[in-house]
Amino acid sequence: MSIEASTNTASIRAQQAAPLQEGAAGGAYPALAADDKAYVWHPFTQMAEYTAEEPLIVAAGEGSYLFDVDGRRYLDGVSSLWVTVHGHRKPELDAAIVAQLGRIAHSTLLGIANVPSIELARRLVAIAPPGLTKVFYAENGASAVEIALKMAFQYWQLKGETRRTRFLSLQNAYHGDTLGAVSVGGIDEFHARFAPLLFPVLHAPSPYCYRCPLGLEYPGCTGVAPPSPPNLGGEQNGAVPVGLGGHPACVEELGRLLAAHRDEVAAVIVEPLVQGAAGMLTQPPGYLRRVRELCDAHGSLLIADEVATGFGRTGRLFACEHEGVTPDLLVVGKGITGGYLPLSAVLTTQAIYDAYLGDYAEMKHLFHGHTYTGNPLCCAAALANLDLFEQERTVERLGAKIERLSRGLERFRALAHVGEVRQCGFMVGIELVADRATRAPYPTEARIGGRAIRAARRRGAVLRPLGDVIVLMPPLSIADAELDDLLDIAYASIVEVTGA
Ligand code: PMP
Repeated sequence: MSIEASTNTASIRAQQAAPLQEGAAGGAYPALAADDKAYVWHPFTQMAEYTAEEPLIVAAGEGSYLFDVDGRRYLDGVSSLWVTVHGHRKPELDAAIVAQLGRIAHSTLLGIANVPSIELARRLVAIAPPGLTKVFYAENGASAVEIALKMAFQYWQLKGETRRTRFLSLQNAYHGDTLGAVSVGGIDEFHARFAPLLFPVLHAPSPYCYRCPLGLEYPGCTGVAPPSPPNLGGEQNGAVPVGLGGHPACVEELGRLLAAHRDEVAAVIVEPLVQGAAGMLTQPPGYLRRVRELCDAHGSLLIADEVATGFGRTGRLFACEHEGVTPDLLVVGKGITGGYLPLSAVLTTQAIYDAYLGDYAEMKHLFHGHTYTGNPLCCAAALANLDLFEQERTVERLGAKIERLSRGLERFRALAHVGEVRQCGFMVGIELVADRATRAPYPTEARIGGRAIRAARRRGAVLRPLGDVIVLMPPLSIADAELDDLLDIAYASIVEVTGA
């Protein structure tokens, strides 16, 4: 099938120029592009490559679409870095922020309170997994991770268990780019360079079944013979003990590490259900519940980093709900404001909060805070976001779209260079490989992921790959026809660059 033939009329519509949105800077492209290259240093971007090309400059948005300065529209295929929930320019969100602007834009939370942050904390506690009763705000995922790490560390110091100073995280983990978050990170490409600056962390094997770090195969690795053993081409390694009691070997290895470092581990930190930035690595069912059990057995706290998975992404409001797990510390960010403003939070238990109480002179309180902690505009946006989740029954209505997405992804599995398609709700990773039989990756120089997203952009969708994994993470509000368009564009782009 030719690329053109596989692109349906709806996706052709998506490529057509739409009227310029209000506020867009029509005609200004050359000057803006020159200034962008002259002055802006873009994150996670090789600037030598970026400045050699013509940048996409977003000027406006509407629903599931972004509009560039010349009025061309693009499906926002990764929700503007995994944040957009109800679409761009959602009237209720716009109005909530404008209304809050009419009162006050910012006042500090250090020692005084503000109205929206109180209301939001009450609402977050009401919707979070049971047992989380206190909310500490920050502005982005990484700072909230830092707060969770410090809270867990100091908790044990205050409790007199002063040997509990270590953290256990997963290989392939991503928790943000500040140095504490990088310390508990596990993506060599991002993190290894900073090794001399990081604190040492225990790393358990990543539950990355497609490239199992233990050389095993799921579900054979659970110690329970699968009904019909799958032949996924992976290597068996007899030296590695298989998991016990039906649990994957990787999580039992996490338990072994906890046992070996008994009384030393302050907390285990995980991304529940999906290791997002590593390439949407989906975990075997029961994995998170087993981590909770192991933390309980060894007395460690559990930090669930739901910065990516929270607010509906996995098909439930929080990923922890799928496994009936309450972490001791829940980290949320990204979608908390519907994708409008930077806000994050750590929710924690009464027990942790209570450990910090005492006379002022005891100096038990948490010495941490950011200038914009609990910013009223951000909290007002988050409140409107939660209202929309209720009014529009966002999570309930997502089920049918998740199924549509699953059906739409089936044909990708047949492509010669698609190694694996992973999906958890509205989080999708399509791993491209040079050789499907051996699972050999493409050489880095091939820039296959980058080429695929450039091809997608020409077809009218903005995507952002994770290495050679093509990510699809549209707004939860995306319409069926738009979702079909996004799938068509991704499919045609992969076909184009892999020559399949
Ligand atoms: N934790 C997870 C699981 C994430 O996916 C991210 C960002 N992708 C972060 C933390 C960091 O969030 P931020 O970029 O807002 O600092």
